[in-house]
Amino acid sequence: MSKQKYTIDFLKEYCIEHNISYSKIVVDKWDGRSTIITGPCNTSLCSNTFTKVFRQLHIGCGPYCSSCTKMIQRDKTKKKNMETFGVENPMQSKEVREKGKIYMDVSKRYS
Ligand SMILES: [Zn+2]
Repeated sequence: MSKQKYTIDFLKEYCIEHNISYSKIVVDKWDGRSTIITGPCNTSLCSNTFTKVFRQLHIGCGPYCSSCTKMIQRDKTKKKNMETFGVENPMQSKEVREKGKIYMDVSKRYS
């Protein structure tokens, strides 16, 4: 993977890719990957704005406000749990509960 250059052109490309109107993006001072970018949240029904460092915007969760970012991260965790354990919440998994029980028994024995 080639190293991404955080240029204005790349920001414009990023906007096109994420369907953000570039005219709504506010940049205070251009500073490469450390540029602080403010723009509209990309969730269709959300009217908040995001303020993120360009690099974070690119490699992180994307152009979403803090509350939408949290929601997306929660969804990601759920999806990952579904893949790993077959349930949204690992505590729902019998196997995980059993493992926890065994661990508790062991720690009781040696305490
Ligand atoms: Zn939002």
